Amino acid sequence: MEVCYQLPVLPLDRPVPKHVLTRRGAISFSSSSSLFGCPDPRQLSQRRGAISYDSSDQTALYIRMLGDVRVRSRVGFETERRGSHPYLYVDFRILHSRPESVGPVSARKIRRLLSFQRSLHSSRLFRGVLPQNPLYILDDDYTGQAKCMLKKVGSWNFDIFLFDRLTNGNSLVSLTFHLFKHYGLIEIFHLDMVKLRRFLVMVQEDYHSQNPYHNAVHAADVTQAMHCYLKEPKLAKSLTSWDVLLGLLAATTHDLDHPGVNQHFLIKTNHYLATLYKNTSVLENHHWRSAVGLLRESGLFAHLPMEDRLGMERQLGSLILATDISRQNEYLLQFRTHLDREDLCLDDAGHRHFILQMALKCADICNPCRTWELSKQWSEKVTEEFFHQGDIEKKHKLDVSPLCDSQTQTIENIQMGFMTYVVEPLFVEWARFSDTRLSQTMLGYLALNKAGWRGMVQEQASSGDDTDPTLEETDSDILPQESREL
Ligand SMILES: [Zn+2]
Repeated sequence: MEVCYQLPVLPLDRPVPKHVLTRRGAISFSSSSSLFGCPDPRQLSQRRGAISYDSSDQTALYIRMLGDVRVRSRVGFETERRGSHPYLYVDFRILHSRPESVGPVSARKIRRLLSFQRSLHSSRLFRGVLPQNPLYILDDDYTGQAKCMLKKVGSWNFDIFLFDRLTNGNSLVSLTFHLFKHYGLIEIFHLDMVKLRRFLVMVQEDYHSQNPYHNAVHAADVTQAMHCYLKEPKLAKSLTSWDVLLGLLAATTHDLDHPGVNQHFLIKTNHYLATLYKNTSVLENHHWRSAVGLLRESGLFAHLPMEDRLGMERQLGSLILATDISRQNEYLLQFRTHLDREDLCLDDAGHRHFILQMALKCADICNPCRTWELSKQWSEKVTEEFFHQGDIEKKHKLDVSPLCDSQTQTIENIQMGFMTYVVEPLFVEWARFSDTRLSQTMLGYLALNKAGWRGMVQEQASSGDDTDPTLEETDSDILPQESREL
């Protein structure tokens, strides 16, 4: 047991509960969030968890959060987060294993399990395991440069990768906190800045940093794009502070605790989340419920009336669920109909909410509308994640999901299909709604990037590599409705 964990931070203010001690190898610990102040002892005791060690499996460390598995509120709304359920058929400890990973034996033996981000972060920190990225050790010069970058946070060319490096890997916290101040949300909603920062740190930590694509940097990128849309003239003059608050919260949390595999994978491996959400918007529901869990845990809006808090949670869910790409056509048709009829009235709260949904959808898949330098990096990251899933599927003799087979797919054909069938139709409609310089810029980059990928396909075809498809084959090869979250 001592191989896995040393326990420098134990909530020693009260005895470990008997039901924890009766577990073999059980210990108690507090989550990293308790470091941000002096929590109510009752909350602390609720956050105790049990860690058990199975000697028959030398690589397994099971952690069960006693208080967080399921929280039932007095009004009957259940949050779902930080479940300690193992995946049923596939051992997900292999999901983020990297052969090149180095470090102490104990660190290598502990594999990340879904939803345990903060536990592992804190355990690594307290065991003295330094982050492997040398850029985590930065001086004030970098902080100053990050602050300087924030002055241009509304620029469409904002380099989120650079910003993430300059902020020590804290782009999501830094950027969102800055935007809350920028929009005056802290004053308007009487937010406690310590609680806000604690909430954002928890959000950032619950993104899986091992995911090549669905990590906190993607969330920060989506939040930055959302900010660009929120300040578009049509929206800026119509949206209320409540709308802005919800838009930013939804962007920040929209992929929370994403496991790095898609819904299709969760369904075919009988994952409990698929059962819980009846195979429908499985990931999006999980992101939403995880966000609600963190909102409640942080107490960020605890001072608001219950009715407002529940309304916020419902609207947050509606926004996050709209990012389910399998429902793209449904939203697009609705958007098109409104635009054809010219009946969108942003004085109407329902219409404003719909526009927020569309803005979030655009922000979520706007990678191909960025500059080539940024767009290409995102394309590489998402392809890496797809192929990683495909490798797991092959290893476990499961059907390889579309777009996930590195032997039959290429980054170029994935991007061409994605741009043609998913991104372009959405951004064309967005430009009809908001015909601004930004919209035209986005469509311009989209066309340029598409031409860039097309050129690479043609180059490969002319070089005689017969494993690469022709452009026509590429377009028809992609299934735009494939449930895939970006
Ligand atoms: Zn996303």
